[in-house]
Amino acid sequence: MNKKFSILYVDDEESNLRIFKNTFRREYDVYTVTNAKDGIEILKKEDIDIILSDQRMPEMTGVEFFKHTLEAHPQLNRILITGFTDFNALQSAINDAKIFQYIQKPWQEGDLRTIIEKALRVYKLEQENKELTVELKEKNKSLVKINKELKSSNEKLIVAKNKAEESDRLKSVFFANISHEIRTPMNGIIGFTKILNEQDLSDEQRQEFGDIIIRSSEQLMHIIDDIMEVSHLATSNVKLNLGEVDLNRFLDDLIAVYENESNDKVSIQLINELSEKDGNIMSDALKLKKILNNLIDNALKYTSEGYVKVSCKKNNSNIEFCIEDSGIGINPEMQHVIFDRFRQEEESSTRQFGGLGLGLSIVKENVTLLSGKIWVKSEKGKGSTFTFTIPYAPAGETTIITDKGISNESSSSVKNKHTILIVEDEVINSLYLETLLEDMDVNLKILNAENGQEAVDCCRENVDIDLVLMDIKMPIMNGIEATQEIRKFRKNLPIVAQTAYTTNEDREKAKQAGCDDFITKPIEVNILSDLIARYLVVVKE
Ligand code: ADP
Repeated sequence: MNKKFSILYVDDEESNLRIFKNTFRREYDVYTVTNAKDGIEILKKEDIDIILSDQRMPEMTGVEFFKHTLEAHPQLNRILITGFTDFNALQSAINDAKIFQYIQKPWQEGDLRTIIEKALRVYKLEQENKELTVELKEKNKSLVKINKELKSSNEKLIVAKNKAEESDRLKSVFFANISHEIRTPMNGIIGFTKILNEQDLSDEQRQEFGDIIIRSSEQLMHIIDDIMEVSHLATSNVKLNLGEVDLNRFLDDLIAVYENESNDKVSIQLINELSEKDGNIMSDALKLKKILNNLIDNALKYTSEGYVKVSCKKNNSNIEFCIEDSGIGINPEMQHVIFDRFRQEEESSTRQFGGLGLGLSIVKENVTLLSGKIWVKSEKGKGSTFTFTIPYAPAGETTIITDKGISNESSSSVKNKHTILIVEDEVINSLYLETLLEDMDVNLKILNAENGQEAVDCCRENVDIDLVLMDIKMPIMNGIEATQEIRKFRKNLPIVAQTAYTTNEDREKAKQAGCDDFITKPIEVNILSDLIARYLVVVKE
């Protein structure tokens, strides 16, 4: 049930109070007092909704009483009861005491009831209005908050949408490019293979066309390598293979390959400022080689005339490499994006240089893996300088292994001859591997097994085996099972899985079985020599 409204009535004539109380007590809670002072006390204690007061009272008039109540109870409606002659009081009441209405004495019940009802209606509406205003203010506050949140998530969504659109666009560009990049060498391979088969050719022509086929195949392998590397870097927990690296020899060997292939228009120079001592560091030689190869390949690709300079020096606690070219240069606004996957300065289909935009992203990720940094300075039309650092981690006094051999001081700890077991069911593959190994300038004994079971038996019988090159897909027992078996009795024997391009899952399986590393078929001679350098301490024959 609704609470009754409460009315306070102040009048010094008690008979008036009585009549009022009798008239209205059924509808309202009626409080009556004979003077303003008592009225003020009632207002302090009770929850009053409307005040009526006689004007003429001793001590404090009705208007004075109303004025007094204004500060503590501004919300109340006030009704003044006046005689005919109280014009001044009325004027002051209207101006200063904010009365709702006045009624003349003697009041008629009907008139007073109408005024009270009206005043209470207004009062109720004002109260509701007030509550609504508070509620609205609260709602407004939370709306402002929601709006802010919406704005910020909207901004995030726009960024995500732009990113998604950009990656969609890059994907389309990538697929258009990859089709072109694969078709070009494929055309070379198919076309020249047909010519080699069908026509009478001189020995020189045969040699020339054979070279084209080999170059085109290498180009294809390069593309597949890059794609596999990117997916490997993106999905696998790539680990470093740290070992001692003699940077001085490493750089000489690396540049020598480029010098052999260089042309008259672009010279390649090595400026190595490392001392013999500073050049001996701990690092991952394969990753370092990949980084430098990619940067030098790019420098040569984008330079038609002039030079490519590769420099290396110790800079405080870092080793700093610079690959500078006098090539086409890169627009300033593209310099920060070219390290992202698929990003190229020139994306149109009329592209002059080809490529998939993967090289620099591979470089950057490998530099990061080596705890280094990479940046580029470039001017359009003048050339580019890519600089990267790796932390200077000096090698200890132990054996120094490089692509070519070992340093003298530790040669006493080196075996004269190493034994490699090739596990391979395909005779051609096995022969190919043997030929590569025999061509290397190292002293090796080679054993063969045609399936996993033979490999396990061979490892049991020959305790001097130093490295196993393990094929994975084989009859009788596959490479995974064989590795698991060998691990039971040779925990530290290096086993390297040799696989055609397989899924990451396959790689993970091989790793879990106990393989130390992977090489992909067809195996390249430099990859093989890196492996030998990493897992064996070898001496030249
Ligand atoms: P790709 O060379 O296959 O396009 P990269 O990731 O190696 O991919 O390089 C990305 C882009 O960076 C290239 O497309 C080219 O626009 C620019 N770039 C890289 N190296 C150089 C360089 N030395 N000179 C000029 N531009 C370069």
